[in-house]
Parts: sequence; structure tokens; C-alpha cells
Amino acid sequence: MYKVTLIHGDGIGFEVVESSRKVIEATGIDIQWDVRKAGQNAIPEFGDVVPQSTVESILENKVALKGPLTNIVGSGQRSPNVGLRNALDLYANIRHAKHFPGVPSKWENVDIIVVREAMEDVYAGAEQMIGPDGAVAIKFITRRGTERVVRRAFEYAIANNRKKVTASVKANILKLTDGLFLKVAREVAQNYPQIEYSETIIDALCMHLVKNPFDFDVIVTENCYGDIVSDLTAGLAGGLGVGHGVNLGDGLAVFESTHGSAPRYQGLDKINPTAMILSGALMLKHLGENEKASMIYTSVQKVLKKGEIVTYDLGGSSKTSEYTNEIIRNLK
Ligand code: NAD
Repeated sequence: MYKVTLIHGDGIGFEVVESSRKVIEATGIDIQWDVRKAGQNAIPEFGDVVPQSTVESILENKVALKGPLTNIVGSGQRSPNVGLRNALDLYANIRHAKHFPGVPSKWENVDIIVVREAMEDVYAGAEQMIGPDGAVAIKFITRRGTERVVRRAFEYAIANNRKKVTASVKANILKLTDGLFLKVAREVAQNYPQIEYSETIIDALCMHLVKNPFDFDVIVTENCYGDIVSDLTAGLAGGLGVGHGVNLGDGLAVFESTHGSAPRYQGLDKINPTAMILSGALMLKHLGENEKASMIYTSVQKVLKKGEIVTYDLGGSSKTSEYTNEIIRNLK
């Protein structure tokens, strides 16, 4: 039996996480869920968006399935996602943009991994007002932070039979910060001669991704660029409803979708739970349950390809619950 921390999160989190949990349980796996709170919904009970008890649960269980957390802009409150990543030192955010036949998209067969550094950069939250009409944010890049995330990108490539890693920043302008990231990436790349290494300036990367996404395999970049680029790649693969992934630390793995809490869809039984279901499949793979993970992938593939019982964003009119039941019906 496995013990996994389960965090529903905010907005559509409850619906997508419950959908994922149902599909995971339908594979027959024995998981004891340690249900914890994080995000805005944790405030009434804990007075904090990242309760210490939730952090301790993940530290103990080592694996978590997490829904999206709402960040209230301009509230002065710390970002729940940044808070959780910092508390657990989850330094590598690996986001999958994989197109499944049947999913409406400009491109067929896109399959790109974005490995995003998740602790540093302007997302470290070191911001300050300079008088009433100016503000500054510190961009924070270190050799240690870069080294470990680039290593993760190469190790991911090797473990998953990927051929190429592309490092992408803006070192021609940000010579010290992005320059350091690129210098360290080149050094790390030399340790992995079996994987092709390339570099692309981040703005050019966006243009190339849209024109020919098949030029890219694994992309490694800084925190802010990675956040933006992984939404772009999710869009290339069919939208936020399917972008899935994991936050990795040393010995810790928190699985989550690329999308946020989409509050206006909360409680409507309408949104697409695929991203969270696929994050659940990744989690089963991480636990060594490859067969059960494949059951989920195969079922999702089948239901999407048929395209009859799918949610609104995929051109259908089925509810979250109907789609979830269809995935469960097709598990074999
Ligand atoms: P969002 O991803 O929540 O939603 C943007 C739009 O994308 C939605 O309005 C909807 O049209 C579509 N969408 C998203 N998920 C979908 C799904 N599963 N099925 C179908 N359509 C879907 O982005 P946002 O509105 O910018 O962010 C809302 C909140 O979520 C913010 O507070 C943000 O900070 C937070 N957020 C959290 C995470 C996380 O917890 N990892 C990630 C991103 C954003």
C-alpha cells in the first residue's frame, strides 16, 4: 500500500483532483490518501495558504497529488504555489505538452517537455517599491540552482528515451543572470554526450515553437520563462486541459496540472480533468506502477480519439463527471 498526500486546492481543484483520484483508484491500486489543505481554502482553518501540517505530510509521504492554488494578486499574501515549492525545495517543475489524437489543435503529435527551474529568478518574490510610482524585482540566479535543474533535464531525457535538450534564456541582454544560467547549462551538458544539446534565445524559441514544435524535445529554462513557455507548449498540444506534470525536489514529487484554479468554472461540473488525470498517471509511473499508469494513458487516448464524451474545451458537451466515468469504463 502507498501513502500519498492529497491536496484539492482552490477553484476547480476539488473537481479535477477527485476525478483523478477516482480514475487512479479504478486501476485497483491500493493508496491511502492523506488529505491536506493548501491555498485559499486553508485560510479559515489554518490562517495560512501553506499550512505547516501540509508541508510535513508531503515530507513524510514523499509523494503528493495536488490541485491548483489561487494566488490573490495585490493582496500582500504570499503566493501559495511559490510558498509550497519553497517550503519543500521543489526546484524542478517538469511540464508535459503531449498531443493526443482527437484533441483539437493546430499541430498533431506535439510532444514537448519543459523543465522549469522553480525556486529562483524573479519568482523568488524579492520585490520592492521605489517611491509611489516605481517598483523593482530582483532576478536571482545561482550556479547551484541552475546546475541541479539542468541535470534533472538531462536525466529526464535519458530515463525517458528523449534525444535532445534545449537551454533557452535571454543571455544576449541579461548577461550576468541569464549568462550564468547558460554558462552552467553548457558545463552540465558536457557530462551527457549521449544527448544532443542546443541553445535558443527565449523569444526566438517561442517563434520556432509555434512554427515547428517538432524541432524541440526537452526544453530547460528559468522559472518565469518556463512558466510562460509551458503554457505556450500546452496550447500547442491542445490546451491547458491536457498539460500535466510534476514538481520535483530531492526525494520529493508533487504531481499537478499546468493549468490554474480557473475560478469561474468552479462547481459547474464542466472543466476538463484530463491534465489532473494524466498527472495521476505520471504519479503511478513514479511509484513504479507502470502497468497501471499505462492503463490510464491508454484509456485517455481511446476516449479522446473517439471524441464523443469529451468536455467543452475539446469540442464536446460532456460534464467532468461523465468524462471521468468514461475514462474509468475504458480502463483495461
Ligand atoms: P487558469 O489556468 O486557471 O485558467 C485560464 C483559463 O484556461 C480558464 O478560464 C479556462 O478557460 C482555461 N482552463 C484552465 N484549466 C482548464 C481545464 N482544466 N479545462 C478547461 N479549460 C481550462 O489560469 P488563470 O485564470 O490565469 O489563473 C487562475 C488562478 O490559478 C490564479 O490565481 C493563478 O495564480 C492560479 N494558478 C495556479 C497554478 C497552480 O496551482 N499550479 C498554476 C497556474 C495558475
